[in-house]
Amino acid sequence: MIQFTNTLGGRKEPFRPIVPGEVGLYTCGPTVYDFSHIGNYRSYIFEDLLKRFLKYSGFKVRHVMNITDVDDKTIRGANAKGIGLEDYTAPFILAFTEDLAALRIEPADVYPRATDHIPEMVRIIQGLLEKGIAYRKDGSIYFKISLFPGYGKLSKIDLSELRSTGRVESDEYEKESVQDFALWKAPKDGEPVWETEIGPGRPGWHIECSAMSVRYLGQPFDIHCGGVDNIFPHHENEIAQSEALAGKPFANYWLHCHHLIVDGEKMSKSKGNFYTLRDLIRNPGVDLMALRFLLISSHYRKGLNFSFDALEQAGAGLRRIKDFLVEMETGAFPPGESPEVASLLSEARAKFDDGLGDDLNISIALTSVFELIRKVNSLNKAGGLKSGDAQSVTSYVYSLDEVLGVLPPRAEKKLPDALEAKIRDREAARKARDFGSADRLRKELAAAGVILEDTKDGVRWKIVRTPGAS
Ligand SMILES: [Zn+2]
Repeated sequence: MIQFTNTLGGRKEPFRPIVPGEVGLYTCGPTVYDFSHIGNYRSYIFEDLLKRFLKYSGFKVRHVMNITDVDDKTIRGANAKGIGLEDYTAPFILAFTEDLAALRIEPADVYPRATDHIPEMVRIIQGLLEKGIAYRKDGSIYFKISLFPGYGKLSKIDLSELRSTGRVESDEYEKESVQDFALWKAPKDGEPVWETEIGPGRPGWHIECSAMSVRYLGQPFDIHCGGVDNIFPHHENEIAQSEALAGKPFANYWLHCHHLIVDGEKMSKSKGNFYTLRDLIRNPGVDLMALRFLLISSHYRKGLNFSFDALEQAGAGLRRIKDFLVEMETGAFPPGESPEVASLLSEARAKFDDGLGDDLNISIALTSVFELIRKVNSLNKAGGLKSGDAQSVTSYVYSLDEVLGVLPPRAEKKLPDALEAKIRDREAARKARDFGSADRLRKELAAAGVILEDTKDGVRWKIVRTPGAS
């Protein structure tokens, strides 16, 4: 069984998709006014883990991630630079796509842009006006929260405390200032304007996600994700707009990822602890797969503390897995298989699957991997590991990478015969103390991409690139 903590119900609930075997997933994407920081990538990597796990569990996932290319922040940024909105956002959209690839985040099926979906937004606002739930004021259009009885159900705000009858125009505000929010903003000097059936203006941020999610996933859809700071007001307002119009649920499961802090403190530019992914990519000491491993390895509903020490520890953990695979792939084992390893593997698989199935409990899942490594290593030391065992263990660990996405691509185990022969010749030369020939053969192998490692158990090889490839 798979269960997730649903922010809507405030507890763990068994996951039941609307269409059996299929999942519609909407994740709030970047607001492209700057380079995304590593806190943003924590959310995107959590969503990637969720999606990869659902796929690994046999679901067909349709993933939609929006690009917010018009809102208060992008307009402010474009104006500060004195350029058009599109010119301003384009490099950040490109950087975002590159960063996702660098972190091996699987691409979404659709990346709708807000500026391409103004008609869909206008239709929702029109519908809300017709129902009397939205109203006009000074050229803008607002959502009347007192007319939507479910308002506050996601963020659990108490509207009975609310006496204000005011309106809030800005996209982001605190719970203390909950008020009627802007669906459509009246034209202002220096802001882009769309001429539409509801009048000139531009959309508020919240309506964008309501329009783009339902456009590509229908209503209701299965899972809506984001960071905890999206719960209020962004997601609360998405629910209000979509449900008030359609009279049916908007999204069934809401999963929210907790904050990332840096060196124990909230990340901020003024404290000098603010990192974009670009900063880390440019740092030659940073292994991006170690970063990915760090970002997935703490539970999404807990805070994650980023530090260079933590990054190093994550790298060390990842190296343990990789070294283990090298050992399994290149070690010399007697032929056959042992029933002990088969049971270790089924135990590990059950623990990995159950861990992630229980609200993506990654700690249990990763513990199962390291436990398996420890047990197989000690069996190996005791001489109990057979070649068939090493192969099954290797395949098993690689199969987990569908979910984890941190291992290098699997190397071909078999070398071309000519290279195998060279390894044997070099061994023979070494035994004959013909170190000149041995060294020459080692260099020839290295030139072909085969690196030798002499251990007390004999020689091992690994491929650093495909032999024969230039
Ligand atoms: Zn959103």
